[in-house]
Amino acid sequence: MRDGDTLYIDGHWQPADDGGRFDVTDPASGAIIGTAADAGAAETDRAIAAAREAFASWSRESAYRRAEVLWRAHTLMTQRSEELAALMTREQGKPLKAARNEVGYAAEFLAWFAEEPKRVYGSSIPSARPGQRFTVLRRPVGVVAGITPWNYPISMITRKVAPAVAAGCSIVLKSAEQTPLCAVAVFEILAEAGLPPGVANLVTTSRPGTVGERLLDAPEVRKLTFTGSTDVGRQLAARAAATMKRVSMELGGHAPLLVFDDADPVHAAKGTALVKFLNAGQACISPNRIFVQRTVLDAFTEALLERVGGLVTGPGDRPGVSVGPLVDDAALKKVTDQVEDAVAKGARLLIGGSRLDGDCLGAGRFFAPTVLADVDESMRIYREETFGPVAAIIPFDDEDEAVRRANDTEYGLASYLYTNDLGRAVRVSEALRFGIVGVNDINPTAAAAPFGGVGLSGLGREGGAQGLDEYLDTTLVGLVVPT
Ligand code: NAP
Repeated sequence: MRDGDTLYIDGHWQPADDGGRFDVTDPASGAIIGTAADAGAAETDRAIAAAREAFASWSRESAYRRAEVLWRAHTLMTQRSEELAALMTREQGKPLKAARNEVGYAAEFLAWFAEEPKRVYGSSIPSARPGQRFTVLRRPVGVVAGITPWNYPISMITRKVAPAVAAGCSIVLKSAEQTPLCAVAVFEILAEAGLPPGVANLVTTSRPGTVGERLLDAPEVRKLTFTGSTDVGRQLAARAAATMKRVSMELGGHAPLLVFDDADPVHAAKGTALVKFLNAGQACISPNRIFVQRTVLDAFTEALLERVGGLVTGPGDRPGVSVGPLVDDAALKKVTDQVEDAVAKGARLLIGGSRLDGDCLGAGRFFAPTVLADVDESMRIYREETFGPVAAIIPFDDEDEAVRRANDTEYGLASYLYTNDLGRAVRVSEALRFGIVGVNDINPTAAAAPFGGVGLSGLGREGGAQGLDEYLDTTLVGLVVPT
């Protein structure tokens, strides 16, 4: 494993210019598991220069040649899935099974975007002027800056790098401070797959502001693709506007999950437990408000409590563990504060509710899987993204109320509903103002499908055909043929 030489610039692994490093810790034990190079402005500028240089030739390669590289990367990632999953569990904390799933999801983006550029069709448009021809060309936007979070430390990288290089762009990626080693593993695969020097560059740092400013202010960087919190995304988008970069923003969420009384409450509770406690609740698509029709409230709550009571919290590499640690102390504090605030304002704590420190868990940041009943609008958890293993149940009486309250958020990423009534499924999925709606489906995501939100959840889409469009500009060629 690399130690300190984690910058990948112009095809070379290197340390920071001044030898600076930062520690990488295992959130389950607090142990230091490695160090990463702490890049600053000079290294970032070199990465941008390398990307600019590489763009000139990579953008002229055929889609078929780019596909070969991405397919090789897909093969390598699939072959290394066990090794990558183990690394992810150590560095980010999620249980091994979830880490394996993430590696599979990450590899899907390499495969999907290997093929998609072969179908970047331009078009021709009939003109009203005699002799005039209009042709529409699609061309790579240029050098891209990518910034990714820690919660999905491999798939958030392939979801950006694969479409960027598939489209013919080059990219400088700044990975999250908590998970640089996963980023290194992805870039080792890209290098081995034969991606030419400079096409994809990795910058690890503990100084996101310094690196971010260089990426955002550089006029030659033509696009910013960011996944992270709404607060940071807003600041970055504002700064990117000065050089008029294109931006894709995959930001926070506050997903509602609606359980109607025509659905099986036990089945709905199973799905709710699976999606709510995934990644210890540290997912942008995690249901934050669980609206349950009053007539099935007791049956649903009982089934959910049974499921939650069976969840095992602990280090992700321990057999049988389904909920890992939170990423850091700040995350632990935020979840604790939200639960205390809700209880103080009248929510009922049905299970969990505090940090776990028995059974050797004290060195990590473990929070007990928690269920709160009678949550209402006055509580912080009703509006703030939780990012922890807390299920907040809110009763409702009818469909109009459910839709109105589900839409009562500035976020708009994922939403879910359980119903067996076809008319209701159509009505409600069309009325929910979210980028993603899962109808009896807790996993409405795939590399082939557009992922993204509306409102404060962001701009643009990743995955699907739309995911490639984000890296393509449109050029109109008008040609007059003498008649
Ligand atoms: P974050 O604090 O916004 O950080 C995201 C990335 O931005 C990290 O690489 C971070 O670097 C970097 N960053 C922070 N400040 C910066 C600055 N001034 N300039 C440049 N870069 C900067 O978010 P997070 O806590 O890592 O991730 C959790 C958030 O991501 C949640 O809100 C979640 O909903 C969202 N998310 C959204 C999606 C989606 O697809 N919509 C997917 C996953 C996560 P450091 O690591 O060094 O701080």
